[in-house]
Amino acid sequence: MTPLEFDQQHLWHPYTNVVKPGPTFRVAEAEGAHLTLDDGSKLIDAMSSWWCMLHGHRNPKITQAIHNQLDVMPHVMFGGLTHDPAIELGQRLLSLTPPSLQRIFYCDSGSVAVEVAMKMAVQYQHSIGQPDRSQFVTIRSGYHGDTWKAMSVCDPVTGMHHLFKGALSVQHFVSRPPVKLGEDWIDDPDKNGISELQQILENHHRSIAGFILEPVVQGTGGMYFYHPEYLNQARKLCDEFGVLLIFDEIATGFGRAGKLFGTSFTNIEPDIICLGKALTGGHISFACTMTNDRVANGIGHGEPGIFMHGPTYMANPLACAAASAALDLLIENDWAAQTAILEKRLSKGLAPAAQFAKVADVRVLGGIGVIEMNHRVCADQAHTLSKETGVYLRPFGKNIYTMPPFICTDEDVVKICNAMLHLAQVL
Ligand SMILES: *Cc1c(COP(=O)(O)O)cnc(C)c1O
Repeated sequence: MTPLEFDQQHLWHPYTNVVKPGPTFRVAEAEGAHLTLDDGSKLIDAMSSWWCMLHGHRNPKITQAIHNQLDVMPHVMFGGLTHDPAIELGQRLLSLTPPSLQRIFYCDSGSVAVEVAMKMAVQYQHSIGQPDRSQFVTIRSGYHGDTWKAMSVCDPVTGMHHLFKGALSVQHFVSRPPVKLGEDWIDDPDKNGISELQQILENHHRSIAGFILEPVVQGTGGMYFYHPEYLNQARKLCDEFGVLLIFDEIATGFGRAGKLFGTSFTNIEPDIICLGKALTGGHISFACTMTNDRVANGIGHGEPGIFMHGPTYMANPLACAAASAALDLLIENDWAAQTAILEKRLSKGLAPAAQFAKVADVRVLGGIGVIEMNHRVCADQAHTLSKETGVYLRPFGKNIYTMPPFICTDEDVVKICNAMLHLAQVL
């Protein structure tokens, strides 16, 4: 049995059918923006390995930080113990994130960060004497992860809620904010989505703990960019109805959308924020949930006071060390300049697609470039074409998109854009 045959027969891949597995490349090595396959061919990783690999694969500063930590202490439990990697990462996070978010909960992955955020919201409400507030409001076509509570606030259609009916918590959904980023804000609450949110909060706030959403950019749910004024207005409504505002910044965090966070597009701050993906520059799984003193102290002064969560690998020192190195690189490499250049190059490179017959829309924001087609795109076909174009792309739904590593050269971005134009013509 070849290694690939073993893989096909025994290893489950994300969102795949084990009986009819899709085509899979065997990657031998990864460096910078490139993947080297077992046959020696090289592909640009235009996905940044699902949006995390900001500073390139095998970044020497990040790998060195992991090596150094590996020699000292790969792991130690966080119960009753602490360590410098956790403290030093915490200091860096506080210097970057919205100032009111002073309390950090480290965890293993994005989905867990969302679970923790939702649990914090429910426990906070319980602590302040609102034990009936256990539901959430969210925006349609959102994505928050694959664990149960996170899944309950993913889009009901693309999240296949019908399949898990009975096992999933029932939540309240509002339409995605109709005013797009870059358009003029419409002051009419019936047209800007605010009436709908207000209605739900008015009718159900006694059972609602929080409003969870992806700020400005809905990622997996459709690569949709919306007007940040929606978030300013949502903040007011949340305050009025005693509902916590939770920003899932797992995709938008660390410069991806051209500002440091989705929150940076607004003039408000959320009560809770989830960070993940690019946190370690894509070198090791890690995430965190941050909150303000109101929520943290609310939980702390309530009954039982302790927050009921504590993963085995909480604050893993290797991951903390990788994250600190990645955050330093963000600043050293001037992420704002990097994403501004990416935005310019992607806009220029993808512009011709607007004229293509089967293309519905072309949009670019910071380091995100999207060609939205009129029809669903076959990811397996796109996969097969990667070897021809030299660019690894993995479209979903109607979107052919890229989130390139920030370190991509002009030449890399031209190649990515040309590959996307090619897919938009042939798929
Ligand atoms: C990827 C993603 C998650 C889930 O993170 P995992 O690390 O895959 O569990 C949650 N929310 C958003 C917005 C994401 O993009």
